[in-house]
Amino acid sequence: MIKINFADIAHATPGKQERVSLDMEHLIAGDLDLAYLRGTLHFTRVDHGILVEGKLETAVKTECSRCLTPFYEPVTIELADIIGLPGMSPTPERPVNVHEDGWADLTPLIREYAWLGLPLNPLCSPDCPGLCPVCGGNIRKGECTCGDDEPIDPRWEALRPLLNEAETSQGHEG
Ligand SMILES: [Zn+2]
Ligand SMILES: [Zn+2]
Repeated sequence: MIKINFADIAHATPGKQERVSLDMEHLIAGDLDLAYLRGTLHFTRVDHGILVEGKLETAVKTECSRCLTPFYEPVTIELADIIGLPGMSPTPERPVNVHEDGWADLTPLIREYAWLGLPLNPLCSPDCPGLCPVCGGNIRKGECTCGDDEPIDPRWEALRPLLNEAETSQGHEG
């Protein structure tokens, strides 16, 4: 939970500003696992809510699109959103409201921005060699069991039994 107290600014006149620094370790934002969340948020009281702006650094747990290894992808969040005042009903465009007690949980906002900041095809490293197309082993971790052979085209793999047969019938000694 990313709970922040907005009691003062929620009851202030428009124009009032506040800032809050975040430095959180390992938090869960909905379905996302964040290694950390750091940065400064600026709040401005506007007519019908509180404008929340700021740049946050986080790292979102995801899976490499090539080798399927879980890792934390660094994501920069450039937040610019309005949260509602106490007594307002949430809307799809403004899902976060300050509660009557002055607190608001920014988790849904942070989750949305973190999700949007994730690349479509995350890579654990830019040169990740991925999985071996033949044995499915993780090449970088040395899981590939295909030895030093050239990577085998799956179309040739179908012919392999025939080749072995041919070799056997030639009377290989070894
Ligand atoms: Zn990878
Ligand atoms: Zn392999």
